[in-house]
Amino acid sequence: MPRSGPRAVVLSVGSELLRGETVDTNAAFLAGSLAELGVTVLEVHQLPDDRGVIAEAFQRARETADLVIATGGLGPTHDDLTREGLADALGEELRPDTALEATLHERFAAYGRMPESNLRQALLVPSAEPLANPIGSAPGWWVDSTTGTAALLPGVPAEMRRMWTDEVAPRVKRRLSPSAPAVRVLKTFAIGESAVAERLSGLLEAPGDGIESGIYARDDGVHLRFATSDGDERLEQPARRAAELLGDDLWGTDGDELAEIVLRRLGERGVMTLATWEAGTGGSLLAILAGVDPSTADGAARYAGGVLDAGGTAAAPVADAVLQVSLLPGDAHGRSRVRVAMSGAVPIASVEARIHGSGPQRLRRAAFAALDQVRRALSGL
Ligand code: ATP
Repeated sequence: MPRSGPRAVVLSVGSELLRGETVDTNAAFLAGSLAELGVTVLEVHQLPDDRGVIAEAFQRARETADLVIATGGLGPTHDDLTREGLADALGEELRPDTALEATLHERFAAYGRMPESNLRQALLVPSAEPLANPIGSAPGWWVDSTTGTAALLPGVPAEMRRMWTDEVAPRVKRRLSPSAPAVRVLKTFAIGESAVAERLSGLLEAPGDGIESGIYARDDGVHLRFATSDGDERLEQPARRAAELLGDDLWGTDGDELAEIVLRRLGERGVMTLATWEAGTGGSLLAILAGVDPSTADGAARYAGGVLDAGGTAAAPVADAVLQVSLLPGDAHGRSRVRVAMSGAVPIASVEARIHGSGPQRLRRAAFAALDQVRRALSGL
């Protein structure tokens, strides 16, 4: 579906990205966040620490996009050249900003003397407004000039994300008034992408006028996505139809997390604490359950921890219920079986589930398969 509305280009700066030493997770975050706001991302580029290349990329990007967002290269050293690149593209001169210098001196006061090189981070061009970075030294930039709109964010992911949320996203909304698309996601487990597509018998290809559909294989199963710019109610019909066709294989929608759902359902059955015992999974079940946000856990079972058993002797912590998972060796085609059982307050007899995948994905899929088996058993499936 062709989208109208504001368009952006994302630039990730850093030679380490081009050498494969750092994975460009910032671009993925920014592309996803821009799409959520309703800004179409036209292109994502990774650039070396080269002033000329950076300047040219800004120039080219602003020819097609309403907004250019760059991340990285705002540090204090000679190879942090994003400020210089944008200044060249704008035809503006970098000048020290006294307020930024004072903020930097204040920040470094706690550590003793500030290295001279950090003063580079207090440079600004006349059309740039500095953006606060409360958790790092590199301030960001917001530029709104006759030649275009751009934002510079630090490369450190936590600093970048915070600056995006607190400083850049509100400015993008004010400046470009994007209209956020309505999105509905349906999450399934235990069926492959092509089987889901077949079961939906044409709904993916023709979800309705003005509706975009997509199907994605994730670690926690196959997700379906419907999106439209024509209002949330347009998605009711295709989402309801898809849910009917998917039946018990559908475990959640939108922001639902499988681990949260399982802990909640266990809580409803009077299970106050859950522990895990896992073998062959690299501890992936523990990592997923330990990552559940406790603030969402009102009335849910509490995760009491678990063990990864490498030798058949480790014992799980004491809890109302203990979920046991063994990932069996996979075959040459990436197929594996997962043995799942639960003892304690809500016993589940040993069952086997099949998963597909390799590497870390295989381990996480085994954990999600175990959680899905618990969900099914608790629903009497
Ligand atoms: P700082 O002043 O804090 O160093 P910076 O803007 O100069 O910020 P960089 O020096 O480019 O940031 O990168 C700092 C670190 O942030 C890198 O070593 C890398 O670990 C991480 N990083 C940089 N760019 C990205 C990216 N695009 N995706 C994920 N991580 C990144």
